[in-house]
Amino acid sequence: MIAKRIPSILPNMTEEESLEVMKIYSVANLLKTKCALLTERPFRAPHHNASTNSLIGGGTYARPGEISLAHNGVLFLDEMGEFSRKSLDSLRQPLEDKSVTITRVWGSNTYPANFMLVGAMNPCPCGYFGQEKCRCTDYEILKYRQKLSGPIMDRMDIQKYVGIVDFFDEDLQGKSSRDIRIVMEKARKLQQERFRDVPSINCNAQMTPAHIDRFCRLDSGTISLLRVAAERFQYIGRAIHKYIKIARTIADMEESEDIRYEHMRKSLLSRDLEKDKLAFIRR
Ligand SMILES: [Zn+2]
Repeated sequence: MIAKRIPSILPNMTEEESLEVMKIYSVANLLKTKCALLTERPFRAPHHNASTNSLIGGGTYARPGEISLAHNGVLFLDEMGEFSRKSLDSLRQPLEDKSVTITRVWGSNTYPANFMLVGAMNPCPCGYFGQEKCRCTDYEILKYRQKLSGPIMDRMDIQKYVGIVDFFDEDLQGKSSRDIRIVMEKARKLQQERFRDVPSINCNAQMTPAHIDRFCRLDSGTISLLRVAAERFQYIGRAIHKYIKIARTIADMEESEDIRYEHMRKSLLSRDLEKDKLAFIRR
């Protein structure tokens, strides 16, 4: 449900982003003639039976696939564990390069594919994990979760375990999409301002290590918190950079110029699937 609400909190596209998207849709023959500039970000949700070709692009005319149709927007994979391992692994290279090259006998086409990957899956094959009804064995649970390979999990910035919602919990009053969207738009504006002079970057997620050094100064308390977590959970390069980027975004959402201890603490809580898988299963 959270994943499906994501389009409602995304900031509108800039003119430049919109033109990029329209070009792709035009190549894919999905553009209605004479349509106005698109402002809403694409949200693509292919079924888990979708072929690898339709996901990353291909076919006789090397048309763009779902990952390019989701450019500047969201690619949502529901029941992620049901996608074939081959399809999921084919996302690795585009996630890294933000583009995809499709080769055919007559040549090759390169399409942009800078999308936000959002996935959802049940914690166990039956879906009743943690309740008495669940009859899955530890082995079945592990096997199911291992469908998402390490390299794919590695590339997902935020990984959250979502518990069962208690319908009668009176504190369960969430924020509306509209309120969250206002926060998001402010945070994105700060980011566009930050990367004004940096070509081809318009949000924190796209920062390289050099940008992190430049835009994410950490005070000594925050660094030591990150160091303790890194030692405890054996985080290396890429993972540490992710935590800093997420902390940068949390600081932006609070309109704070500095990344503070509290922002890093929240960031470290944003990946709770990877720490100790077995302990997690037993939780
Ligand atoms: Zn189960």
